Amino acid sequence: MKRTYNGSCHCGAVRFEADTDLAEGTFRCNCSICFKSRAWMAAVPANGFRLLAGEADLRDYQFGPKRIHHLFCSACGVRPFSQGQDPKGNKFYAVRVNCLEGVDAKELVDAPIKYFDMRHDNMKTPPAETRHL
Ligand SMILES: [Zn+2]
Repeated sequence: MKRTYNGSCHCGAVRFEADTDLAEGTFRCNCSICFKSRAWMAAVPANGFRLLAGEADLRDYQFGPKRIHHLFCSACGVRPFSQGQDPKGNKFYAVRVNCLEGVDAKELVDAPIKYFDMRHDNMKTPPAETRHL
């Protein structure tokens, strides 16, 4: 069931609310930045995301086709969420499930995970190997 989560970076400068349902699915990806930062995320449509604090503390990082803003806290370095646009131009957020508060281990263990093979720019099929992601 969809609910409103509070989320934050490590130091608490960046705080947000996100309406999502982890039981509806989370995702991991093998692209270079997701791999290096061990990203585990849940998608949130723009109307389900509210930045509560820390806009001035966020730094942006983009690479490659620059479709996604890989935001991070300038004080603690944690990446609480990213922001991008789908192919139709709809803005969306991807929140790090590890940055959501009040999520117990069972909720994370039970959350389905979809794997994206963005290392090969492939959204259609998961990577052949996912256990290391
Ligand atoms: Zn921080």
